[in-house]
Amino acid sequence: MVKCLFCGFETGEQSFKLLKGSWIFRFYSMEIVIFPRCRGVFNYYRGVSPQMGRVSEFTVRIWPKVR
Ligand SMILES: [Zn+2]
Repeated sequence: MVKCLFCGFETGEQSFKLLKGSWIFRFYSMEIVIFPRCRGVFNYYRGVSPQMGRVSEFTVRIWPKVR
């Protein structure tokens, strides 16, 4: 589950629409996605951390900065 940083709505990854990507950033794949519900735009990272040894995913708010 991914929680939207803008409206707080929690949903599956598939609900986010890919805008650009993906790129490999260290051990993560990085995508720019939009959440159609509130049109918030994120960096979405997903990868297996070598330290943790498990899948982690997180989002970084990139636009809009202020609501
Ligand atoms: Zn949202």
